[in-house]
Amino acid sequence: MKAPDFQYHRPTTVDEAIKLLTDAGDDGKVIAGGQSLVPLMNMRLAEPETLIDLTGVEELRSSRKTPTGARYGATTTHMMFEHELVPDVTRGLLPHAAAGIGYPAIRNRGTVGGSLAHSDSAAEWPTVMSALDAAVHARSARGTRTIPVRELLLGFFTTVLEADELITEVEVPSLTPTARWGMHKMCRKPGEFADSMAVARGEGNAHGSWQEVELWLGAATDRPLRLSGTEAAVHGKSSADLAPVRLVEPLAADIGQDLSAIDSTGRHALQLHAVTVHRALRAAERDDTA
Ligand SMILES: Cc1cc2nc3c(=O)[nH]c(=O)nc-3n(C[C@H](O)[C@H](O)[C@H](O)COP(=O)(O)OP(=O)(O)OC[C@H]3O[C@@H](n4cnc5c(N)ncnc54)[C@H](O)[C@@H]3O)c2cc1C
Repeated sequence: MKAPDFQYHRPTTVDEAIKLLTDAGDDGKVIAGGQSLVPLMNMRLAEPETLIDLTGVEELRSSRKTPTGARYGATTTHMMFEHELVPDVTRGLLPHAAAGIGYPAIRNRGTVGGSLAHSDSAAEWPTVMSALDAAVHARSARGTRTIPVRELLLGFFTTVLEADELITEVEVPSLTPTARWGMHKMCRKPGEFADSMAVARGEGNAHGSWQEVELWLGAATDRPLRLSGTEAAVHGKSSADLAPVRLVEPLAADIGQDLSAIDSTGRHALQLHAVTVHRALRAAERDDTA
């Protein structure tokens, strides 16, 4: 199928992009990599009358280190993270996550700002940026604001962004030198969205057990989920002390599922998430995320 007709603009500054977006009102949309928006337009699930292409805005593609981390322009592509063409302040987590997104053609065009604005819980950046406690900087004609990613994402394809607001940057805090992280994505074949995705981060003690642990799960509900109950079950232990089956109960509570009422499909999904979380923990402990 083909997209309906639209007016196309390619501004070269953020001010120009914001003016075009404001003038277009509810009928306007920005396009970055187009890897989510174009399929939606082709299927006529989105029919913007005006498209504002952000790829000509140089300042949206620049990145820099800051004293506390790094700021990435919204149109930084997945490939730029993957190949470390931008600074990495996460000791490898950002390049690792980027390398798992779709396949090279997707990573060459898809952007971090577009992925966060699109808000698909099965996508990499929403879960990873939530786990890193990243924030987006957003701008409109009314001014600028900073929104933690944990507050940005409201559900499938829904964020707190107003229609005339543009993500300009994503700010990621540095991981400490002793922090460990692990990520695991479960999908049927490479290039697909996740059926389950987990990120574990925290600190270990001299024996390798988790002294501090934060766990995030993607693709389970309509937005990335912090697994507070599962964290409590993991605290003071290592993955070797915990078979995945022991994570099922706390996971069900974190997801809000009643284990006594769950059917076999639900049970299978829970077991998948338990294995994913366990593998993320194990990868962090080994400092090996391959
Ligand atoms: C075959 C295929 C496989 C894929 N596999 C994966 C995968 O495994 N993992 C994964 O994470 N993703 C995957 N994707 C999605 C891909 O990562 C997209 O790049 C991403 O979801 C959207 O980024 P984009 O730059 O292409 O955004 P676009 O498609 O251009 O825009 C998406 C939405 O965000 C809005 N938007 C874009 N930029 C901004 C901004 N700066 N400020 C405000 N709003 C903005 C647009 O208006 C639109 O509503 C896949 C896509 C395809 C087609």
